[in-house]
Amino acid sequence: MFADKYEAVIGLEIHAQLLTNSKAFCGCSTKFGLPPNSNVCPICLGMPGTLPVLNKKVVEFAIKLGLATHCKIRTYSIFARKNYFYPDLPKGYQISQYEEPICYDGYVEIELKNGEKKKIRLRRIHMEEDAGKSIHDQDVDTLIDINRCGVPLLEIVTEPDINTPQEAALYLTKIRQLVQYLDICDGNMEEGSLRCDANVSVRLKGEKKLGTKTEVKNMNSIKNVEKALEYEINRQIQILESGGTIVQETLLWDAGAGVVRPMRSKEEAHDYRYFPEPDLVPVVVPEEWINEIKKSLPELPEEKRDRFMKQYKLPKYDAEVLTSSKALADYYEQCVKYTDDYKSVSNWIMVEVLKILNERQIDIADFKVKPEHLARLINLVNEGKINQTTAKMVLEEISETGEEPDSLIERKGLLQISDESFIEEVVVKVLEGNKENIERYFAGKDKLFGYFVGEVMKLTKGKANPKIVNEVLRRKLEEMRVKVNG
Ligand code: ADP
Ligand code: MG
Ligand code: ZN
Repeated sequence: MFADKYEAVIGLEIHAQLLTNSKAFCGCSTKFGLPPNSNVCPICLGMPGTLPVLNKKVVEFAIKLGLATHCKIRTYSIFARKNYFYPDLPKGYQISQYEEPICYDGYVEIELKNGEKKKIRLRRIHMEEDAGKSIHDQDVDTLIDINRCGVPLLEIVTEPDINTPQEAALYLTKIRQLVQYLDICDGNMEEGSLRCDANVSVRLKGEKKLGTKTEVKNMNSIKNVEKALEYEINRQIQILESGGTIVQETLLWDAGAGVVRPMRSKEEAHDYRYFPEPDLVPVVVPEEWINEIKKSLPELPEEKRDRFMKQYKLPKYDAEVLTSSKALADYYEQCVKYTDDYKSVSNWIMVEVLKILNERQIDIADFKVKPEHLARLINLVNEGKINQTTAKMVLEEISETGEEPDSLIERKGLLQISDESFIEEVVVKVLEGNKENIERYFAGKDKLFGYFVGEVMKLTKGKANPKIVNEVLRRKLEEMRVKVNG
């Protein structure tokens, strides 16, 4: 309603759980789903007298993401203690980075709907450890699981450069894609391995000063981040329009009700009394190591997209969809080893394969059709051995069984009929049974042509080569028209 009058300003803080084998400062495993409180040791429990030791992988992963997001890498950085009391944090503090994060001053580029590119600046990426989990919904009491204590995280903080919920979604998508490509985080928002807090304020358009912000938490999907931001932006505008002021507070998104609610104020103690962590030495990163990591970076999404456009002559849209996840891109490249029809492989993956994955809510990694089998299906269509409809049916079926297409086609007798004389017999039979329809067709009801084709397909159980059916049917009807008119 007031969309033209106000502008939203958004800054995102993302926590990415790292795919290291062990925790950030002890040897405990990071494995998910172990029995509660079984995966702990004196260090991550914060027992007095224990000493943390930094996991080198955590630094390597931070540098990887920093390089991929055009950040500067600090060759000397320190850890800090972020103090707060909470039942799932036995130490009473989190080890984090404060004043000098390992990565800073980077950016991520997003592409808006109108094709315009926009840079979202990154203020910092720092390393920290996760807290445990409080479980409120399994017992009358709150239960505590400490397993997650000490699991390494990267916190990625933007400048307030985002102006719409859609931009926030694009940015998040980009970050998720990057961490997956880099293989440093699985990017799963539903399971909480990628979490996003949104800082949001509104201001009159043209105004330079930032408005008072609120912080929205608890959104477990990109869609929910978008919805929560829409809601919160509207809520703030309504308050300002009715003469009120925004209270700086932390809000929780309630996805079920589609509203935000204030967090109980007790949960919002904000004086963390940061100070340098006395138990850890500074993190010193030699330049050679940075260069080594730079060299080891995999091909990143945009490079891969551009290469797909060039190497496989794909339109930008196709290349973008196929490289949206590394696993999907790998699947595509496996397929085109077995066929030269690059564009058909792209079409089949973008339409049929993604449809099946979506219906069954599975990942490409769990898709049972081997790349060489999809390629084989496409080749069979191109060679005229089966038609498109049959191929789709075969794909559907082998995606459940993993069977080879050839054996299924053979077993079910699905080979396409391209024998012209046989097709002609069927066409004649259909036309003989449709005298009245033929008259109506000659009288101008062109649509009946499709009906005739359908009848031929019915009699051949869908196996007739549609191209030949069309040709023969057209020829036969033309012959009849000449007879009628002549
Ligand atoms: P805090 O001290 O509350 O954590 P920070 O200055 O550290 O605030 O910023 C946290 C995040 O909030 C950053 O992503 C930043 O870009 C964003 N941010 C800061 N001020 C505003 C504002 N007025 N409106 C929207 N986002 C903001
Ligand atoms: Mg903050
Ligand atoms: Zn431990």
